[in-house]
Amino acid sequence: MNNFDWIVIGGGITGSILSYELAKKGLNVLLLEKNPNYHNATRYSYGGVAYWSGTDEFSLNLCQESKKNYEHLSEELEQDIEFRELDLMLTIPVEKDPQLIAKNYDKFAITPNLLTPKEALEIEPLLNQNAISGVLKLPHGNLHPQKTNDAYQQGFLRLGGTRKYEEVTTLLGKNQTIIGVQTNQNKYYAKNTVICAGGLSRFLLNKMDIALNIYFTHSQLIITPPVEIKLKSLVMPAILNRINIEEKSGDSTFKNLWNAPSDEVIDDVMEVGAIQFLDGSFCLGQISKIKTNPWASNNDNLDEKIIREGIGKVLPTLQDLPGKLHHCLVAFSADTNFLVGKINHFTGLHLFSGFTSTFIFAPPLAKRFASWATEDYQKMPSLSS
Ligand SMILES: Cc1cc2nc3c(=O)[nH]c(=O)nc-3n(C[C@H](O)[C@H](O)[C@H](O)COP(=O)(O)OP(=O)(O)OC[C@H]3O[C@@H](n4cnc5c(N)ncnc54)[C@H](O)[C@@H]3O)c2cc1C
Repeated sequence: MNNFDWIVIGGGITGSILSYELAKKGLNVLLLEKNPNYHNATRYSYGGVAYWSGTDEFSLNLCQESKKNYEHLSEELEQDIEFRELDLMLTIPVEKDPQLIAKNYDKFAITPNLLTPKEALEIEPLLNQNAISGVLKLPHGNLHPQKTNDAYQQGFLRLGGTRKYEEVTTLLGKNQTIIGVQTNQNKYYAKNTVICAGGLSRFLLNKMDIALNIYFTHSQLIITPPVEIKLKSLVMPAILNRINIEEKSGDSTFKNLWNAPSDEVIDDVMEVGAIQFLDGSFCLGQISKIKTNPWASNNDNLDEKIIREGIGKVLPTLQDLPGKLHHCLVAFSADTNFLVGKINHFTGLHLFSGFTSTFIFAPPLAKRFASWATEDYQKMPSLSS
C-alpha cells in the first residue's frame, strides 16, 4: 500500500502539473504536500503566462505548446482555471529612456509596443502618467494560480493518483540509490522520487549533500478582498532588478553565503506589480529579498508600507486598498530557466524546479518529463552542480 512508481514532493504548481502528467501515463503516483492551506509561491502569484518570452528554438516551442495547452486546459481538467488573454503593461520609470529599455526586449519572440504615457493611460487608466516615461505593451496570458493548481490536482486524483498532506523529512536510500521518503507520519517507497518543493527544494537537496544551483527569494505581496476598482491589465516593471540579484547568486562569493544560511538580507528589491483576478481581488507586489535562511523573519509592518508606497507611485488608487501582507519562498536557478531532470550520481532522484516563468515553461516540460520517465529514460537530462 505504501509502494508507488513515483513520489512527487510538493503540491505547488510544479508538483501538481508533474503528478498529473505522470499519472496520465498510467503511473502509480503519490503527491506529498506539507501544507493543506497552500501558503506557497503558487498561491501568491500573479498567474501571468509569458508566451512571448521564447528566445531560442527550444523555448519558442515550449511557449507555443504551453499557449495551446492553456486554451483547452479548463476543459481537459473539468474545472475553470480562468485562463484569458490580458495585456501586460511594463512600466518604464520617468527618469529612464524608453527607447533604451525597449531594446532589452529585442531578444524575445514577440517584441513589445512602446507606448507613450498618454497612450498607456488609454489602455490602463489607473496608471500615474507622471511616474512613467513610457510603457511596453505585450500580449500576455493570465490564469488563476490556485484554481489552476487545484484543477491539476483534481485531474490527478481522478486518474487514480494519491495525495497526502504530510511533510517529507528525509529521503530514504542507500549508496546513492533513493528508494522512497520518510514523512512526519509514514514511510513511502518508490523507484523514483522527484523534488518539486519550490523554495525548499534546496533544503531537501542539502540534506542529501547535493549542491545544485537552486536558490530562493523571500517574496512579500499584498492580497486584497474583491473590490469595485477595475484594473484592465497586468502591470509590472519593464526593468526587472530581481533577475540581476538572481543571477548574482551563481557567483562564487554568493555561493559561499548560501552554504551558511543566515537571516541577513544580502540583497532586496521592490518591484511594483498588480493583477486583478476575475473575482475582483488583487495581488499587489512585490518585495524580493535574498536571505539564505528559508525561515528568516521579516518586518511585516515596514515591508507592507514599502509595497504600498511603491504601488502608490505607479497605481495611486490601489495604494490604500484593504488587504493583507503575505510571504512565500520562490525558487530560482541562477544560470538556467529551469532545473529539470535526474540528479547525477544518484539513482531514482529527480528535480523539477527553479523555473523562471513557471506558468509558461512547467506544463510542456512536465509532459516531456513524463514521456522520458515512461518511454526513454536515457533522454532525461542529468543535473549536476
Ligand atoms: C508575487 C508573485 C508573482 C508571481 N508572478 C508570476 C507570474 O506572473 N508568472 C509566473 O510564471 N510566475 C510567477 N511567480 C512565480 C511563481 O509563482 C512560482 O515560480 C511558482 O508558483 C513556483 O511553484 P513551485 O511548485 O515551484 O513552488 P510552490 O508553489 O512554493 O510549491 C512548493 C510546495 O512544496 C511544498 N513543500 C516544500 N517542502 C516540502 C516537504 N518537505 N514535504 C512536503 N511538501 C513540501 C510547499 O509546502 C509548497 O506547497 C510569481 C511569484 C510571486 C511571489
